[in-house]
Amino acid sequence: MSTENTASDFASDSHKHWRAESLPLLAEAVSALKGEDRPGQRDLATAVSEAIRYGHHLVSEAPTGSGKSLAYLVPAIASGLRVVVATSTIALQDQLIGKDLPQLASATNVRFTATALKGRANYVCLSKIRTADAPETLFDQRPGASFDDDLKTVRAFSEASPTGDRAELPGAIPDSSWAAFSCTGQECPGANDCSDGVECFAEKARTRASESEIVVVNHALACLDIGAEGNVLPDHDILIVDEAHALAEAATRSFGADLAPSAIGRLAALLGKHGATPAMVKNLKTIENHLETLLNQHKGERLTGEAFKPVQGTLVSIGEHLATARSNLTKSDNPESKRANRLASTRIETVRRMAGAGATDVVWVDGDGPSIRLRLAPLEVGSPMAISLLSTRPCIFVSATLGGEAPYRDFAGALGLDPTTGEGSWGDPPGTPLAEGEPPERLTGVGYASLAVDPSFDWREQGTLFVDPKLPDPARNRVEWLAAGGAHLLRLVEASDGRALVLCTSRANVDHFASLIRDSKLDVTVLAQGDAAPAELIRRFIDDERSILVGTRTFWAGIDAPGTSCVLVVIDRIPFPVPSEPLHAARREFAESEGEDAFATVDIPAAALTLAQGAGRLLRRRSDRGVVAVLDPRLATRSYRRALLKAVPPFRRTTDIEDACAALKTAAEGGAK
Ligand code: SF4
Repeated sequence: MSTENTASDFASDSHKHWRAESLPLLAEAVSALKGEDRPGQRDLATAVSEAIRYGHHLVSEAPTGSGKSLAYLVPAIASGLRVVVATSTIALQDQLIGKDLPQLASATNVRFTATALKGRANYVCLSKIRTADAPETLFDQRPGASFDDDLKTVRAFSEASPTGDRAELPGAIPDSSWAAFSCTGQECPGANDCSDGVECFAEKARTRASESEIVVVNHALACLDIGAEGNVLPDHDILIVDEAHALAEAATRSFGADLAPSAIGRLAALLGKHGATPAMVKNLKTIENHLETLLNQHKGERLTGEAFKPVQGTLVSIGEHLATARSNLTKSDNPESKRANRLASTRIETVRRMAGAGATDVVWVDGDGPSIRLRLAPLEVGSPMAISLLSTRPCIFVSATLGGEAPYRDFAGALGLDPTTGEGSWGDPPGTPLAEGEPPERLTGVGYASLAVDPSFDWREQGTLFVDPKLPDPARNRVEWLAAGGAHLLRLVEASDGRALVLCTSRANVDHFASLIRDSKLDVTVLAQGDAAPAELIRRFIDDERSILVGTRTFWAGIDAPGTSCVLVVIDRIPFPVPSEPLHAARREFAESEGEDAFATVDIPAAALTLAQGAGRLLRRRSDRGVVAVLDPRLATRSYRRALLKAVPPFRRTTDIEDACAALKTAAEGGAK
């Protein structure tokens, strides 16, 4: 494998030949890497291979430890097609590009090229870095105290680095400084209109990607490409989405819009430097203030009907004034002027999109104080996904936790897939292979194949799920629940000797439970959300085996703490979405308007997915042992518990805290979970 700017030996011929059969290639790779044969990994590799070969979509839940990344990468490189792999977390991107793909290249005889591609704002912008300390540029940037040092560091880096990638900087650069050295897609005028376009790091990264067969991106960039009708990523034949449980939310963000009044004010000042008259700038600043006043009257609220009308009128007015100011910009080759023009153009699009919000959009006011903003999100992303993605190429969706059982109806439905259609619903009879040389373009359907990969874990032997049905109901009697649940928590973390992840549904619960453990006689380190940055807290949690990490949603997914650093996962309550959250409330309303039971079709699937992710933090290796304790009796008593329990691994279940503590002591004393 190479991440250099080299074309594949097979690239020109990529549709015509599979380079190898997937299963023998997988066996070769596993053997060379001294791994073990995993039937689940073979099943997934076969399913991915068939999806690529026959041109259909695939949805698969592949639990931790099943070797899923190798299972999809092997058919991807064997196919000889251009494949984009999208992940949610930077950790998985780094693992794929820094470890899995190089290992695959060295372990097999198949030659291929691979590279990572990030959003434009991740690369140094040569145009901006040159003028970042010019007085007229600083006028709008409100630089932080470290700005001058940051500028020196990034300038030196940009002169030496072949990539200009922020992740490769020797030290951290604050976001406030980085914004002055990088360029978002919203402000970049494009390489053809930029005097630094030839040397531009972001453009070079795109070129490398267009010459690579495997391109690793994040969900946001993949969604941007879907929304831009394929203009962001290089042409590709297959999309593989790992951590696919997070894709619908990424698409919701990507297909939506947001607008901070302060951004209008800053843009007005910028336009004023490049030709907009003082009167035009003043008008825009007046409307900025008006919009801010309106938004402050509706903090946290969803805007519909009469409440939306004044905001809508203000948005229309902003669009008109921006268009007037933009038309007055002086025609020049000044790079900042071009960026101002481009930024004005994208802002006009944004305000028009928001002003034209329809019945399938949700508009609400988010944030507070200087960060208050108007946000818009589509009610659902299934329709645009079906039109712009699913009809264009086979898509393979893989995740360790999809929340439910095959065929994963809730997950699939949210992405526009149709669980009732079946995988053979396209123009050709089911199972018809692609003819030699035929790219998989005949796909027009939204059916899919599904696969539940057998775990390599012995769930009942390795894990225990503890729920005490006698605990007070947290929704009915919070005070009693906090007291009784807290007492259980102390007994559990004493038995586990720390080594616990406590996942809470609110900041108030984080503060309560963290203080409770700190004030107890237990000699353990408590790391609470807010004590440090999340990445730092996770690092300390993994390094200090006897520590306890207490946090909210940020920590429900993505923590990989194998071995003795985490033998206990405590979940405070069933993670139902917050009813007042505007987007969630709108989804419920929509479900009800369609005659559906919103609790069953909106609340339960969302809670099941989050619960599955939380419980999935426990076992990361076959040698791991431990307990998931849910301090919410409703998981053992309510009729909806069955739907939720289906999303949790099939651990041995107990309602006896003595039993749970005994299991924890065994796990902790055994030196392994
Ligand atoms: S094309 Fe020019 S403005 Fe755009 S990111 Fe590259 S250097 Fe910056």
